[in-house]
Amino acid sequence: MEEMYDAIIVGAGAAGLSAALSFYRSDETRQNMDLGIEPKVLVISKLQSLRSHTGSAEGGIAASLGNEQPDCWQWHYYDTVKGGDWLVDQDAAKILAQEATKTVVNLEHDGVAFSRTNDGHIAQRRFGGHTKDYGKAPVERAAYAADRVGHQILHSLWQQCIGHGVEFAEEWYVTDLAVDQDEQQVQGVIAFDTHSGEVHVVRAHNVLIATGGAGRLFHTTSNSWDLTGDGMSLVLRAGLQCEDTEFVQFHPTGLAHTGILLSEASRAEGGTLRNADGVAFMQNYAPEHGDLAARDVVSRAIRAEVDAGRGIADPRDPEGPRDCVWLDMTAIEPGHMLAVLPQVVETIQKYAGLDPTKDWVPVKPTAHYTMGGIPVTTDAEVYTWHDGERHIIEGLYAAGECSCVSVHGANRLGGNSLLDACLFGSRAGESIARRVAENPVLDDGSTIIDEDALIDHLGQDRQDALHDLVAHADDAEQPEAEAAEETTDNAYKLQEQLGQLMDSSLAVLTDAAAIERAQQVITDELVPRAMQLHSHAEYTSFNQEITAIWEVQNLLKLAQAMLTASAARHESRGSLKRLDYPERDDASFLAHSMTDADGNVVWQPVHIIDMKPESREY
Ligand SMILES: Cc1cc2nc3c(=O)[nH]c(=O)nc-3n(C[C@H](O)[C@H](O)[C@H](O)COP(=O)(O)OP(=O)(O)OC[C@H]3O[C@@H](n4cnc5c(N)ncnc54)[C@H](O)[C@@H]3O)c2cc1C
Repeated sequence: MEEMYDAIIVGAGAAGLSAALSFYRSDETRQNMDLGIEPKVLVISKLQSLRSHTGSAEGGIAASLGNEQPDCWQWHYYDTVKGGDWLVDQDAAKILAQEATKTVVNLEHDGVAFSRTNDGHIAQRRFGGHTKDYGKAPVERAAYAADRVGHQILHSLWQQCIGHGVEFAEEWYVTDLAVDQDEQQVQGVIAFDTHSGEVHVVRAHNVLIATGGAGRLFHTTSNSWDLTGDGMSLVLRAGLQCEDTEFVQFHPTGLAHTGILLSEASRAEGGTLRNADGVAFMQNYAPEHGDLAARDVVSRAIRAEVDAGRGIADPRDPEGPRDCVWLDMTAIEPGHMLAVLPQVVETIQKYAGLDPTKDWVPVKPTAHYTMGGIPVTTDAEVYTWHDGERHIIEGLYAAGECSCVSVHGANRLGGNSLLDACLFGSRAGESIARRVAENPVLDDGSTIIDEDALIDHLGQDRQDALHDLVAHADDAEQPEAEAAEETTDNAYKLQEQLGQLMDSSLAVLTDAAAIERAQQVITDELVPRAMQLHSHAEYTSFNQEITAIWEVQNLLKLAQAMLTASAARHESRGSLKRLDYPERDDASFLAHSMTDADGNVVWQPVHIIDMKPESREY
């Protein structure tokens, strides 16, 4: 099957939906529509759109609205650069801080029901690392909707998209990205329709990757099951680079046995971390900001308490590892807690059987956010870095958590990610609108991309791969067949093992030996097994095992890039703590790692505009 679109948007979270909306609302698109040229845009999502992980975001979206306390974009800009340990591209961070207010107000106009101050303004709460007067004191900057801001944003954007007549292909899984390396331009994507089990070749001159993060690389993660780094892996497999993949944020308060997030808002509203002796330890590590220091600082403090023997075991498994600490929320007035943290309370009650108004809750750091990703300009154009400059891939864009415009540098501040996704997602939509206006798809449906182009070959290869995946399904039924041993293996087992490996080698702290061990296991054991996987049923329609196999293959590809970049960075910065290189080294590593799938790493200088690197004490 074959289709041709002006633009394909892969992903229906905050980034993808913001892009679709701003495309439809742009002057260029409206002018074309006035001339009778209807835009052909397709949003492809492997999930039903409203299941995108954006819907789980709890705490807030950052903007210097100044509704609770005086605030300004310059302070937000400074905090973002400092929070990212000076690996932030300052031109991008400036846009983030300057346009944050407009972004939040637009969301309000699109229907987001923010919580309110007594006088009716959008309410704001404290989040770690957000300060006033260049670090002098904390400031309330995160606009919130109880603890369900992501749910509000996702639903509002989706409803607006439906209102604008955006076309969706839901539960389609994008397997390949066609980028013509000679021409440096995109040709479209290959997608697998999980309903019909068919492979589609979808041609387009413009493709936006907005596929979200990759928390599922780790076993303990706050991320939903779909966050398998598909977009980053698509780009690596297309021969392009990923940027700063070594920086993964560990959120300090994952619920002990599940990794499910207990929002930072729980500490912002008065929760305190305590060790096995009941001591509130954060003052020892971050005297000024205490429990609300930046997330990497708090996660490492927890790890230090655990390593010093002051951790606790998950009460559900008293004989298990003492790798947790307590989150004590009992100082929060119960009525207030229910009003502003309903989701957190429900999660604790449902998954731990505890009552946070009375009980301390066991928590541990959980893989939360990928700061790195697909390198993009501030107009969301994907580029590769070589010969000392950026080379833009024509028509290829990325936005949201899978991208790296580098506003988060080596560590993201809470609330800045929804902002990044909505703001740079919108900019992506505008960029695409400008490009489509110059070259819309012709009404007669004629394709400007040649027949027999790279995309046709990728489509055929994927069709063959799909055929192979299901062709051996019957082997699973034959116990004595030689293949029988192989067929007990499956994608879920493999993903579990990869997650455990990444937890033990890269989570919170690492060093060369741990990285090397993980690389070896992946190359020698996990990748060969992943290539052998096949489906246990012979049908392709509604067969989730097929996408699970492709997802774990993507995870492995990304894990290799992440380990390569982690090995190459001989310093500690932001979320990356190398025990063998404990200090930050600006002389050698004030640079972005650009890693490809062949294990090459080159370094791109950080855009420093008006803030020289300082120390990052909290
Ligand atoms: C529990 C939790 C709480 C959070 N709280 C906050 C917060 O309070 N404030 C904040 O700023 N940030 C928060 N974040 C981070 C923030 O929510 C995310 O970074 C952001 O929502 C990502 O948006 P996105 O559009 O990039 O991706 P997502 O919302 O993850 O959407 C990804 C989309 O890509 C699609 N997709 C992926 N792969 C494929 C494929 N192969 N083919 C087709 N479609 C594909 C999916 O179907 C989905 O539609 C939180 C994150 C988590 C996990």
